[in-house]
Amino acid sequence: MAARPNAAIHSPTSPLARRREEMSDLNLRIPGPVPLPEDVLEVGGRQMINHRGPEFADIINRMTTNFKTVLGTQGRAYFLTASGTGSMEAAIVNTLSPGDRVLSISIGSFGNRFGDIAEAYGVEVTRIEFEWGKAADPERVREEIRSMQECAAVVVTHNESSTGVMNPIDDLSRVIHDESDALVLVDAVSSAAGVPLPMDDWGLDVVGTASQKSWVAPPGIAMVAMSDRAWKAHENSKIPKYYFDIDQYEKFLQMGQPPFTPALSIIYALDHSLQAIIDEGIEEVLIRHAARAQQTRDGAKRIGLELFPDQSIASDTVTAIRVPDDIDGKVLVSHARDVYNVELGGGQEKLAGKIIRIGHMGWVLPEHIDESIDAVEKTLADLRA
Ligand code: PMP
Repeated sequence: MAARPNAAIHSPTSPLARRREEMSDLNLRIPGPVPLPEDVLEVGGRQMINHRGPEFADIINRMTTNFKTVLGTQGRAYFLTASGTGSMEAAIVNTLSPGDRVLSISIGSFGNRFGDIAEAYGVEVTRIEFEWGKAADPERVREEIRSMQECAAVVVTHNESSTGVMNPIDDLSRVIHDESDALVLVDAVSSAAGVPLPMDDWGLDVVGTASQKSWVAPPGIAMVAMSDRAWKAHENSKIPKYYFDIDQYEKFLQMGQPPFTPALSIIYALDHSLQAIIDEGIEEVLIRHAARAQQTRDGAKRIGLELFPDQSIASDTVTAIRVPDDIDGKVLVSHARDVYNVELGGGQEKLAGKIIRIGHMGWVLPEHIDESIDAVEKTLADLRA
């Protein structure tokens, strides 16, 4: 893993930060959609424009450049009107052909989904599943790739939102490239713009993410970046596709246009937020995320709770916390909402009722984390009284 940025609490003092201090009762602490500062909401409420006119061309060109800058890629980038799952589907349909062999590495619910999407398109999927709460082991992945006849691609989640675990995507990518020519397709829906993800340096071929996470915009835009290798694979890919066919996005992008009518209001907000990330500085943004994550982990421990994953693999965008045995996690979540006005994430699938999740991606201030930890502490006291 690359070194994590210094976790010292960073207090932004820019004019943008001051305006955003006005955010009041934003107690939405689920791992996306993230609460939006007033300036983003305002921009999203702007009048419509011609999506085939010069103003849109400026917007889409600026967004493409800024998105690529944040990901550290010289590759291609596209914005699709879809949720994050659309970015995963776009990664698969644009690079693979029916019958291709693919390795799916899963450490939780979203990892399983990536394998399911590949299977739905007639790809032959070999699955390695790690215990929920653990990260993928690169050496186990190495063995699996060696034992496969051929491997066209590996699909893997960077940050598993269902368990609060961050995969060592740089190590995994290195092993995959050492052992094969497989493409590395990454679900970075809940990681990109919140944790380091230098796409080209780490040899990632497709990175998919979504507007409603660390990008600080409403849900509705899937963001996809592709390496040159992925683009070449796309030229030979035979999975049937239309709406997500990246060829159309590329052709229209040359004219500063989208192929289809985009979700303009979300585009406005995302353009504004991407620029805010560039203006703040990507390093600063990552330091801020690491600091809020550390604050959340420390807060949970201070009130006597245990983190679900080991701290060494804990996510910097969402913290999963074990619910004590004497407490029902679902009751904890509803009590914190009803009594303390803090909306926490619950556990998904087999973790329902067993963990809670606190989202801290996007524009989150130290007091938001304090409020959330406080709400959990008071809720536990209430439920035990
Ligand atoms: N992957 C991950 C890691 C996610 O966190 C999410 C959303 N929580 C998704 C995929 C799916 O995104 P969406 O709900 O926007 O389709």
